[in-house]
Amino acid sequence: AAVYRVEGLTKTYGSGAGTVHALRGVDLDVEEGSMAVLLGPSGSGKSTLLNILGGLDTATAGQVLFYGLDLTACDEDQLTEYRRKSVGFVFQFYNLIASLTARENVALITEIAENPLDPAEALRIVGLEARVDHFPSQLSGGEQQRVAIARAIAKQPKVLLCDEPTGALDSATGTRVLSAIEAVNEKLGTTSLVITHNAVIADMADEVILFGDGRIAGRRENAARKAAS
Ligand code: ADP
Ligand code: ADP
Repeated sequence: AAVYRVEGLTKTYGSGAGTVHALRGVDLDVEEGSMAVLLGPSGSGKSTLLNILGGLDTATAGQVLFYGLDLTACDEDQLTEYRRKSVGFVFQFYNLIASLTARENVALITEIAENPLDPAEALRIVGLEARVDHFPSQLSGGEQQRVAIARAIAKQPKVLLCDEPTGALDSATGTRVLSAIEAVNEKLGTTSLVITHNAVIADMADEVILFGDGRIAGRRENAARKAAS
């Protein structure tokens, strides 16, 4: 089944001489349970696509179906409901609350979710079972990002959207963060889309979607990872 069907997606910012064509007609199907990386130069439209898929931004033209629900036809309340129930977000910066432990940061979300994971279980999936009672200041950058991933998955969203989750991390740490997203994908079946600039990280995904100038310039399946899973 397709989680997302994107057709002719266009996004422009501004008007007249200042118009920016962020997306110039994107067609994309995202299969349930897949894990794909969006790779491409800065300014090529990756964040814009992710923000529209996540209901954080709206399209100028085209259609985005989420299990048949047309996000481009939703009003603000419907988009809020969609984001709250169905989407987990991870960004470059972790935005953890410094005065709360890892478990407490995750528990903030599980208190308001319909069908939450136990916070300790969410932290176990990302490999932080030994860090549940640590405060953010006691954790490395990669560990803090994994807490942010645990927080994002604790409500058991259908999709996990990650915008440069490894952007502030060195390569080895970034690889461990991607492994945590991979573990979420495998253990919970969460469909995951991850923006990166890093080719090593891109090679860890099932599929790489190459961006260039507001368009999808190519797609590459990673046969090695598919065979291993
Ligand atoms: P990427 O994620 O590949 O770096 P973005 O989607 O962030 O690319 O940006 C695509 C283009 O849209 C860029 O030219 C960027 O400057 C522009 N852009 C993105 N968001 C906005 C915005 N809110 N207002 C104006 N221009 C924007
Ligand atoms: P990335 O490289 O991850 O796409 P950017 O630095 O391009 O990050 O963009 C970060 C955020 O700033 C994006 O969410 C985008 O919406 C916003 N943004 C990007 N370019 C512009 C712009 N020219 N004007 C206003 N907002 C922008």
